[in-house]
Amino acid sequence: MAARKPGLIALFDVDGTLTAPRKVATAKMLEFMQELRKVVTVGVVGGSDLVKISEQLGNTVINDHDYVFSENGLVAYKDGKLIGTQSLKSFLGEEKIKEFINFTLHYIADLDIPIKRGTFIEFRSGMINVSPIGRNCSQEERDEFEKYDKVHNIRPKMVSVLREKFAHLSLTFSIGGQISFDVFPQGWDKTYCLRFLDDFHEIHFIGDKTYKGGNDHEIFESDRTVGHTVTSPDDTVKLCTDLFLAKQS
Ligand SMILES: [Mg+2]
Repeated sequence: MAARKPGLIALFDVDGTLTAPRKVATAKMLEFMQELRKVVTVGVVGGSDLVKISEQLGNTVINDHDYVFSENGLVAYKDGKLIGTQSLKSFLGEEKIKEFINFTLHYIADLDIPIKRGTFIEFRSGMINVSPIGRNCSQEERDEFEKYDKVHNIRPKMVSVLREKFAHLSLTFSIGGQISFDVFPQGWDKTYCLRFLDDFHEIHFIGDKTYKGGNDHEIFESDRTVGHTVTSPDDTVKLCTDLFLAKQS
């Protein structure tokens, strides 16, 4: 590892960057990452939890990479060891969470939309997911809600009410998918993991959803990173070969 350039790290998004969307990484890709690791420090940052990331990058993921940041870094590993954990529960506290959930459930109760199902709020470790129709609707009901929402702006209206009501909590609201939106503290996107990388003055971030609204956008744009956009795992290999390996061969 002596050849590795100090202060430089290559930091990778997982889904769509190291693996095809929602797929498992190929053996070739995992091998390439180990080759890369001989010349640069390597980290991965994904929005999912470690279980999901391990499914995609293998059960030895925390030992195969210098840094692994699951849930955008709310759970952080360095050299296979846990170095940080954060959760919505400990960050906001029960009172504020209850206030938010109570208000949101009241809002949904008063909402007049064609159909409602169940699971309107899903509490996750790093975010609250809110669905006006309820998450356990069928695929057909999802499609219908999405169309209805495009016309009646159910989610955008709800987000603007919540944003104003809970301005004091500095929350970010992100409308994604067909039936719900996510709520999380400001800065709990992928830039969260940068706080663990103070030792690095050159952080190359490589991701696929770097456009505005994409989950790599904030870290791609960050002053602390040199951002790179890729379109597939093959593109990632090509980019990194040019960036980090070309001089070696
Ligand atoms: Mg991605």
